[in-house]
Amino acid sequence: MIPIAKPYLTKEEAQAAYDTILTGWVTQGPKVQEFEEKFAAYVGSKYAVAVSNCTTALHLCMIVAGIKAGDEVICPSMSYIATANSIKYVGATPVFAEVNEDYNIDVKHAESLITPRTKAILIVHQIGMPADIDAFKALCAKHKLLLIEDAACAIGSAYKGKKIGSHSDLVCFSFHPRKVITTGDGGMITTSREDYKDRLKLLRQHGMSVSDRVRHSSSKVIFEDHIEVGYNYRMTDVQASIGIKQLEKLDWLLAERRKIALKYNEAFKSIDKIRLPIEKEGYYSNYQSFSIYIKDSKAINRNELMQALLEKGISTRRGIMCTHKETAYAEEYKSIKLPVSEDLNGNSILIPLFVPMTDEEVNTLVDMVKKQIS
Ligand SMILES: *Cc1c(COP(=O)(O)O)cnc(C)c1O
Repeated sequence: MIPIAKPYLTKEEAQAAYDTILTGWVTQGPKVQEFEEKFAAYVGSKYAVAVSNCTTALHLCMIVAGIKAGDEVICPSMSYIATANSIKYVGATPVFAEVNEDYNIDVKHAESLITPRTKAILIVHQIGMPADIDAFKALCAKHKLLLIEDAACAIGSAYKGKKIGSHSDLVCFSFHPRKVITTGDGGMITTSREDYKDRLKLLRQHGMSVSDRVRHSSSKVIFEDHIEVGYNYRMTDVQASIGIKQLEKLDWLLAERRKIALKYNEAFKSIDKIRLPIEKEGYYSNYQSFSIYIKDSKAINRNELMQALLEKGISTRRGIMCTHKETAYAEEYKSIKLPVSEDLNGNSILIPLFVPMTDEEVNTLVDMVKKQIS
């Protein structure tokens, strides 16, 4: 059986968690701070704020961006449902934009959706491929909107020579095991703004004015105050110690993932019934997932292809979901049409890509897929 994905975890991560547990400090503390500093340095942002997962990261970004009930936030429908949910959490309305052939939000369509109630645009770097950040920065500047990046899948990806996380002021990452590096669950927000960093740190810890770490290391008695209604969105030191080890392996993981992606691209490039991932000049993907789009859906039935591969021991997934088609959204959004997103969703398949993947596994997969589609 070849799984769709597999986290790369070793004795080093286990040892790091073990060591942290024995220090007696298991919730947010010195390891979280160390992970934040290393993460910020890695992506090239001024600050990084660790949280419990990317969904809570997005929620906090909505709050610091000042998004409230009655506001609209433009985002792609074609994304994991947590993208749109984070807008709902603050009572605002997700307004769904169309995507391009690279699965990323279309800037022209997004612009056509701007109304006086629009407050922000939430772009997604889908399955690790960067969206056109500069185009959205320009659009946001023109209409005085905030830009938020859902980079859940995009750790290590880069746009115009700079890593994702260094381009704008509210960028959210995930460390779920389905992403390129993992802490079990976990999330991170990068920002260059000190005021955002301070507010995010406040909100993730019940609105508390002094962190546990500061209180415990102080030689004077300090009383904390809770200065606004916050949340418990903390990452633990056990998770952070795993994250530090994962971050050390990230460059190697990226190189390995890209080697596999290159093999797939080489193996499938001559099949004209399908379209392979589009990585334009200046874009650098971590290949969190490898998606194949079936151009000729009369010749190849996507669901039958998935079933045939499963019977050969190869696990695949449908393309990225369309949030407006999920039951939680379907009624409210029943009148909207997003033909490109719906077509991509219906005719794409994600194939296995993980580290380490043996040459034999890659070759088996290539042969099986070729047999089914050519
Ligand atoms: C995985 C994912 C999320 C959610 O991340 P969690 O850490 O599981 O909360 C949000 N947005 C996108 C685009 C994702 O792929």
